[in-house]
Amino acid sequence: MAKKQFKAESKKLMELMINSIYTNKDIFLRELISNASDAIDKLHYKSLTNRKIKVNTNEFAINVSIDKENRKLIISDNGIGMDKDELESNLGTIARSGSLLFKEENDKKENIDIIGQFGVGFYSAFMVASEICVISKAYGAEKAYKWVSKGIDGYSISEGTKDSYGTDIILTIKDNTDDEDYDKYLEEYTIQSLIKKYSDYITYPIKMNISRSELKEGTNDEYETIVKEETVNSLIPLWKRPKNKISAEDYDTFYSDKFFDYEKPMKVLHFSMEGRISFNALLYIPAHAPYDYYSKEYEKGLQLYSNGVLIMEKCSELLPDYFSFVKGVIDSPDLSLNISREMLQQDKVLNMIAKNVENKISKEITNMLKNDRENYEKFFDAFGLQLKVGICNNYGMDKEKLQDFLLFHSSFNNNYTTLKEYISRMKEKQETIYYACSESVDKARMLPQTEAVIEKGFEVLYLTEYGDEFVMQTLSEYEGKKFANVCASETNLDSDEDREEIDKLNKDNKEMLDVMQKAINDVKEVRFTRHLKDHPVCLTSEGGISTQMEKVMQVMPNSDGIKATMILEVNESHPIADKLKKLYKKDKQELENYSKILYAQARLIEGLPIDNPTELSNLICKELS
Ligand code: ADP
Repeated sequence: MAKKQFKAESKKLMELMINSIYTNKDIFLRELISNASDAIDKLHYKSLTNRKIKVNTNEFAINVSIDKENRKLIISDNGIGMDKDELESNLGTIARSGSLLFKEENDKKENIDIIGQFGVGFYSAFMVASEICVISKAYGAEKAYKWVSKGIDGYSISEGTKDSYGTDIILTIKDNTDDEDYDKYLEEYTIQSLIKKYSDYITYPIKMNISRSELKEGTNDEYETIVKEETVNSLIPLWKRPKNKISAEDYDTFYSDKFFDYEKPMKVLHFSMEGRISFNALLYIPAHAPYDYYSKEYEKGLQLYSNGVLIMEKCSELLPDYFSFVKGVIDSPDLSLNISREMLQQDKVLNMIAKNVENKISKEITNMLKNDRENYEKFFDAFGLQLKVGICNNYGMDKEKLQDFLLFHSSFNNNYTTLKEYISRMKEKQETIYYACSESVDKARMLPQTEAVIEKGFEVLYLTEYGDEFVMQTLSEYEGKKFANVCASETNLDSDEDREEIDKLNKDNKEMLDVMQKAINDVKEVRFTRHLKDHPVCLTSEGGISTQMEKVMQVMPNSDGIKATMILEVNESHPIADKLKKLYKKDKQELENYSKILYAQARLIEGLPIDNPTELSNLICKELS
């Protein structure tokens, strides 16, 4: 029989398994039992939705048996089974290639419990087995097939014998080594405790032959060993158990096992509803964003059960996009098993559950913000971007639900602030919430316009993320207070008197300012200002598109030509103002050069690129010499 090679990634993963110095080898059993349970789920679901399939659901079970003499540990299920092709493709390639990718990315970080927590599944059995033999018969098939492998150097597939559908996984347990005790995996007691510990929530009976000493019949003190088949797990899924019977560890183990996260969840939400519709929910807020979270590959959704039967792995209708990071399980007896993908959106029961779920998540996040700020900030760092996207989507339809979850850096102190907190600190007659945009908090803080607003005693929010400004524009106001970009020309904090004086100054120097504008050409207007403190110049923008937004838009496809309407403002009390006036009288060419240099400076301060650096550099040199 020809030996076949594993796919490259599988090989790497297997190497990792076999040579693993990983201490928790125990988890292999949980992985195999979980696969067995999945296989039964599949057949169970089929049998409920397809009348041609007739199986006795009461007979569904996972059997675990030990043959000590031959060092075999056998895990059998009467689930859907695998045909020859499935054996080949399912066990020849690693299914969840994400785990390997993850492993490579995090190779340098020590102590990341990737093997145990990320769910590498089947291959983990190579941590304890020198050989694995899988005999499987697909439901409805005539032939059974046998898959055998000793590890890295490949596997073989041949016909096998098996009476009924399902799968037997036969492990040959490794011999003990100096520092590793493998014999324990042939002990009834160890296996029984491992099942209790890791697989108790499995909804099908896990059966084992258990030997117990019992009093011999007709005697008072003579004992004999009786072997009886017993169900080891308690069969009630975690989400249906009373909360006071569940430990934090139970919740965490279930989470990492089901959702393949190496880190404990940040929050657990366990609740149920009874009444017109009833359901049990066990939801988790992860402590970090999955590696593919902000990519197209990420699929949101909750596992959907109908009375303990898994009917959908990822039901996306149960979660709004802005809460797509939530993981978990919903179980409701009121759902029809035949629910189809197309029907989902109109399903009344499902919609009611979804509403309820959303409310609970919302409350939990609000609570966290109120009572557990430290964790909340971590949460926001991981998922804040998703919340912001949620505000902008659907023309701002959901903004009211989400705006209070936002956190911003601000000029108030070094910590994050919410909009509510900003409002509570507003000055008596303040009608506007000010913000400044730049790539970093430091840059936003150092903008001349920011300084000017702070100087007047107002707090400024610092927006540093891609798209933040769209969020502000979508919100448009908060508790009746409008948002204003400190760099917008409309944001003018001058008093009426100041304004009049400045207007007059601009009128008196109109011709000179026009010469400057023509020299620069990129700006709509050049004018004097009074709110710049010590800075010579700044750029403000007029209308909806700010200079920062222009930067964001330019990297997006199909947005060429979108430009901010800019105004170059010159500090009228800066010595440069007098210099310009003098040049206007004496040397117009020089005035034009100065204008170009000043404009370039203003662009640099804003973090905008310079169109023609060579020309600028020549100009500066000319002035310097
Ligand atoms: P995962 O369970 O994460 O998909 P595994 O490596 O554990 O990854 O298993 C790979 C695939 O092999 C499974 O997705 C499943 O299709 C199949 N498989 C494993 N064990 C069984 C089983 N006992 N019965 C049927 N199919 C199985």
